[in-house]
Amino acid sequence: MSELEDFLKHPKTDAHNHLNLGMRYASYVPWAHFLIPNFPRTMNGLAEMHEVISTFTRPRCSTAEDVRDVISLSIEDAIADSVTVLEGSIDLQFVGHYNEDYDAFLGMVNSLVEKYKDKITFRPELGLGKTFDDAKVQKWVPILMKSGVFKSVDLYGPETFDDIDRFKPLYELAGKLGMKRKAHVGEFSDAASVKKFVEFFSLDEVQHGIGAAQDDKVLQFLADKKIRCNVTPESNVLLSAVKKLEEHPIKKMFEAGVRLSIGTDDLLFFNRSVSEECLDLEKAGVLTKEQIFKILDDFER
Ligand SMILES: [Zn+2]
Repeated sequence: MSELEDFLKHPKTDAHNHLNLGMRYASYVPWAHFLIPNFPRTMNGLAEMHEVISTFTRPRCSTAEDVRDVISLSIEDAIADSVTVLEGSIDLQFVGHYNEDYDAFLGMVNSLVEKYKDKITFRPELGLGKTFDDAKVQKWVPILMKSGVFKSVDLYGPETFDDIDRFKPLYELAGKLGMKRKAHVGEFSDAASVKKFVEFFSLDEVQHGIGAAQDDKVLQFLADKKIRCNVTPESNVLLSAVKKLEEHPIKKMFEAGVRLSIGTDDLLFFNRSVSEECLDLEKAGVLTKEQIFKILDDFER
């Protein structure tokens, strides 16, 4: 059986990390100056998580300085876990915290890439919320994408197909610019949804995608197309998408030959670093140490 140290010292990617919530609770509290009651805890799906966000974390992050601070805390906790490549998402709404001063916003992002470059390869990802004001999405996203600062794009929010057409031209632009295209799907939704999203947006990678494990044909489709699923086991358990870690579908996905990475999702909520996630998976008998290392070694350096 491995020790945490075995995974700590191994190079790792975190390709599923929302930087506004990507720091430990223990790192967050001294900065936020408040406690979140009974936290971290198992939550009844995304609704309860969003209640915590709207009551506590979103109001606390209200200025440009706050944005820089929370992203910095998240990068530093990734470094503490010896993550070598961090593909972390920065939510589009933060442009508003900079009063639409794109240069100031992009300058902040670039300054963090530069500040931490000796410790971590930080690849900023543009995070798009499905519920965010569409006028702002259509105005801001092309400008930010064309800046070259963001290396990938992600889409998240309610797992539905309603109203996703408006994001399609933005994903086409991302493809033309050589950005990696990612989207959240198959966290609670089924295998057909995963396949549909991959095809609709020409995705390179899927955030979650565990719903694919319900259909061998969709697993084969992902494996054939070499689509990587950036899976976050503890998030799936704490949000009740998976009943218990021992039953996590990452095993089935691995055995089907699907490319995988292990990510933290929101470290603030789920409190498991990539190394801890790896150890948990081994201890729960989901994957062997060798299988986990094989997953960790599948990343772009
Ligand atoms: Zn996520």
